[in-house]
Amino acid sequence: MRYIAIHAISKALGPIKSEALRGFHAFTGSDSTSYFAGCGKPTSWKVWLAHDDVSAAFVAIGSPLQSLPDVVFAALERYTVLLFDIKSDKMKVDAARKDLSVSGGRSLFTIPPTEAALRQHALRAVYQAGHIWGKALDEIPDPAPAPTSWGWKLEDGRLSPHWTTLTHLWAACRSLDKCGCKSGCETQRCKCRSSNLPCIVACTGCKGKCSNSRCCHYLRNVVERQKAFLTQVFFLFSLAKNNQKSQRKKMPC
Ligand SMILES: [Zn+2]
Ligand SMILES: [Zn+2]
Repeated sequence: MRYIAIHAISKALGPIKSEALRGFHAFTGSDSTSYFAGCGKPTSWKVWLAHDDVSAAFVAIGSPLQSLPDVVFAALERYTVLLFDIKSDKMKVDAARKDLSVSGGRSLFTIPPTEAALRQHALRAVYQAGHIWGKALDEIPDPAPAPTSWGWKLEDGRLSPHWTTLTHLWAACRSLDKCGCKSGCETQRCKCRSSNLPCIVACTGCKGKCSNSRCCHYLRNVVERQKAFLTQVFFLFSLAKNNQKSQRKKMPC
């Protein structure tokens, strides 16, 4: 059996880094929080040592916060940029994503997450480091808040990470996804139709020549919009007619 002298480690790290360890571990990946692709603990540790101004943010998220303060998130965001590019001068992950993918030629898998995804990740880290580990030594800990406000969501009665609040890329960029229908794409089982998107040449079965082709999809939407418009007109017309009738009744003879 091997004993690890925790007091020696704590002494070597100093009081601030020792206090910040919970936040660091949760934010850079643990059993219950995800980690950043391509950034393991050694990389995360080296970046922390080189830029220890993030320590205050790690200390902050190690306590049970009621919300994630902007100043804390900004420090975590800057640290995330440095994880992916230690020389970057960008403060925002979205700016660093653009920089690294456009000028740096990096693939989508080697750039930082979007700000929306990072925020959800940071919330999960606060929940784990502050609301769970942060209360581990309390004799009678306060119950933790519902994880659904902290980067998690309920799906079929089970908790799963709420990765982002943005639209999925495949819905925004059609060339990345397609349907594989073999017959007509007429029902909601067609991935394109159920997402209210037209089929495209890249669809493996229909090749965009189906009842959900760009042209049919456009016409269907036009017909539906016209139907909605006519319903509205009819409703307003009947309302005006009823109004006229009631006014006539009120008129003195
Ligand atoms: Zn289809
Ligand atoms: Zn189709």
